[in-house]
Amino acid sequence: MRTSDSTDPVIHIDPTLCTGCRRCAGVCPVDAIEGLPGEPQTVNADRCVICGQCVQICSVYASDWADSSPQAAAIRRQERIRERDMPADIGEPLFAAYYSYNLIKVADMMKKPGQLRIVQCAPAIRVSLAEEFGMPFGTLTPGKMAAALRRLGFDRVYDTNFGADVTIMEEGTELIRRVTEGGPLPMFTSCCPAWVRFAEIEYPDLLDHLSSCKSPMQMVGALIKTYGAQLDEVEPANIYSVAIMPCTCKQFECDRPEMESDGYRDVDEVLTTRELAYWIKQRGIDFMNLPDEEFDAPLGQYSGAGTIFGVTGGVMEAAIRTGYELLTNEKLPKLQLDFVRGEEGIRVAEVQVGELQLKVAVVAGLQHAYQLLDRVQAGECDYHFIEVMGCPAGCISGGGQPKLMLEKQKSMLIVHVNRPSMDTMLHLRCANRMRTLLSSSCTMNFWVSR
Ligand code: SF4
Ligand code: SF4
Repeated sequence: MRTSDSTDPVIHIDPTLCTGCRRCAGVCPVDAIEGLPGEPQTVNADRCVICGQCVQICSVYASDWADSSPQAAAIRRQERIRERDMPADIGEPLFAAYYSYNLIKVADMMKKPGQLRIVQCAPAIRVSLAEEFGMPFGTLTPGKMAAALRRLGFDRVYDTNFGADVTIMEEGTELIRRVTEGGPLPMFTSCCPAWVRFAEIEYPDLLDHLSSCKSPMQMVGALIKTYGAQLDEVEPANIYSVAIMPCTCKQFECDRPEMESDGYRDVDEVLTTRELAYWIKQRGIDFMNLPDEEFDAPLGQYSGAGTIFGVTGGVMEAAIRTGYELLTNEKLPKLQLDFVRGEEGIRVAEVQVGELQLKVAVVAGLQHAYQLLDRVQAGECDYHFIEVMGCPAGCISGGGQPKLMLEKQKSMLIVHVNRPSMDTMLHLRCANRMRTLLSSSCTMNFWVSR
């Protein structure tokens, strides 16, 4: 089990820009922002869960250092850009709170000859990428995104939704096993790395309550270096595997030692939505006018269950459906489980699953997790399954998403997350077929021990 050692800091505050307004402290779920009001703040890396919410809310940026000459201002900007590992020609404002970029490293690795370059994309990316190109909020752009990624040099474009389907099959099965065979309950979801890190820091004695399933990103990563390697008849050592994620904590997750099998990292590098948008612009790709292209098969195919992972309550809904179908071999009668949906706080529900009365809860935003976890720790909580997502509205509001400065923009984004049509029996059939196919062809490591 990996414990909550301090990590290489990912999240930073530039003391020369920070005004000490402490808006970031107001959204930090773990009190990791330290400093007096009106003075530059610092991030306590031992407490930080790398959710990036402070980066999203910080609105103070360098206004070209008006007190300097143009030459001095340009030098100061370049110094900051280097500190942030950003490309030298990046045009975006330099905000006081920021995360380190990975783009230069990835762009360099893409030039290395003799390797198969594979990319996977999380569901929340396709909802937000369009904003960076001036398209209406919530425009879904999976086809243009796949086309752009091929033009950036990727040989295969896969979809993290495939991994979400696998996660759901495994997590739903694990839930039913725990409920019928004796716990430990409640079982918590494990797909949000900020939540996993939070549990390690704040509630280490509850770690065996977390599902043993890897997150969808790590599932797809493991598949790419095993099944994907077989499909393309290439050695895993010659695969360069990149993930595009809405989350600043995903690089931390893929760097964890347990996210490695047979000496190969599941995922080599992670880029955020903002980094991908910049990369597309920098390479002069006309995103708006790209023809739509398909994701590659078979690791680019998925059911609607995978797609709803990007919003709060989505993992819970997909897992309940899967559990219901596994137990009863029938569809869950009511098509939408809207009663477990919510944007903030904790929402609860009871669902009849065969003979079982499942009690479930959804926690949106880590600041709301304390009270529930205290009750679990005290043995006062009778829920069977709890979904915890680190960010207030789930991955869609992740720290690596485009920075939305207006409250109106934020609410529009959430409203525009289109609900996919979800044929659950198709989902189950698809996922079962994936499972059979995968288990018959190679050994996969889909689980972690905590
Ligand atoms: S990092 Fe940004 S939000 Fe936080 S105190 Fe400094 S200026 Fe304010
Ligand atoms: S990244 Fe999240 S946990 Fe870390 S300081 Fe910022 S808001 Fe707090």
